[in-house]
Amino acid sequence: MLTIALSVALSANLFAAGADPLPALDGCRRCKFRGVVACKEHDDDLRELEATVYCSVAARCEPCGGALLVDCEHCEGGPDNAAMEARRAELAAWLAVPHPLEQELGMELIRVEDDRFLFAGRVERLKRGRKRVDGHHFFHHAARDAAHVARLVDEHYAVVPEEDYRARMRLWFWQDREDHARVMRDYLLSSSTGDYKLLGKDPIFSACTSDAIFENDHDVLVALSAHNAAHMLTSNLFREQWIGLDGAGWFDAGLAHWYEREVVGEHRHYCVDEAHGRWEWTDEDWRVDVRKFLAKRDERVWTELVGMQTGELPDWGHAMSWSLYDWLVATKPEALRPLLEDLKALKPAREAVKERVGMDLLAAEAAWREWVVETYPRK
Ligand SMILES: [Zn+2]
Ligand SMILES: [Zn+2]
Ligand SMILES: [Zn+2]
Ligand SMILES: [Zn+2]
Repeated sequence: MLTIALSVALSANLFAAGADPLPALDGCRRCKFRGVVACKEHDDDLRELEATVYCSVAARCEPCGGALLVDCEHCEGGPDNAAMEARRAELAAWLAVPHPLEQELGMELIRVEDDRFLFAGRVERLKRGRKRVDGHHFFHHAARDAAHVARLVDEHYAVVPEEDYRARMRLWFWQDREDHARVMRDYLLSSSTGDYKLLGKDPIFSACTSDAIFENDHDVLVALSAHNAAHMLTSNLFREQWIGLDGAGWFDAGLAHWYEREVVGEHRHYCVDEAHGRWEWTDEDWRVDVRKFLAKRDERVWTELVGMQTGELPDWGHAMSWSLYDWLVATKPEALRPLLEDLKALKPAREAVKERVGMDLLAAEAAWREWVVETYPRK
């Protein structure tokens, strides 16, 4: 949790030398009687996003120090000056704490942090359709969507953040392959060049945005971040353990695809084995594909997936896992938390499903299939 002390620095002009504080100031018409006006260095997008996080770029903003406000030039001050000074002091104190990664690499990074995520890295420019988006905006968009994932997870798992999480999730993005390779080698002690994730205890995700599968595409990378935020949060919840390695790939992959789609609006198909190639699923709406797939397949699906690790799931297994999670969220949301706890305790999925969903795996599969036919579009 954030423990940065709020030094409530009262604006100096509230004090006359050695005398009692002056009476409260009212501002003027030019500042709408606030005493402060907006700092011009931040566009509307950033202004909204920077107000609720710690951002290193904002904290280094010369005119405002990240408070997003500056003194009104037309008056002596007003009721909002104290809060502006407090926010400036808060960000300065945060920025003054040396960041291990910056120290290790000997370079200044873009950092965006909230109480659940620590985003850091170096990204210059990404593409978004025909437009360009700078790395600073990208980090804010990724942080915004990850925070959205966290809110949904909180809701679905009745999370009490102070008790249920053991760490803040670290997500790192690098445009330069060298930066990524260096972090991997020196910091994460891995020789892999692909994206990297450490789940369970002290989760870390690191990726090179220039990788062929990401192509410096803003939307792809925001989706990648949201997807992995879901893996990280649930791997750290309750017990620091990643169920994707313990034969509960269907649940682990299903939830990551689900939150990704819910938050960014579509599937971008990223999971642990993204490096193994593209999906055969062509339709952007997996509901149609899932419905068609199940109509043709008499063999039981869930039974087949149970026991597989996330990395062992076949292509179609990812889509089915997503749909199983979709069904749970829609019809048995109260089962999510006990299911995750059971799977982390290595209880066999058959038993956990029977106990928490209230039917054995065969009956559950039948109910899920029925629900798919009732709810998913035909095309
Ligand atoms: Zn004014
Ligand atoms: Zn910022
Ligand atoms: Zn500013
Ligand atoms: Zn995944």
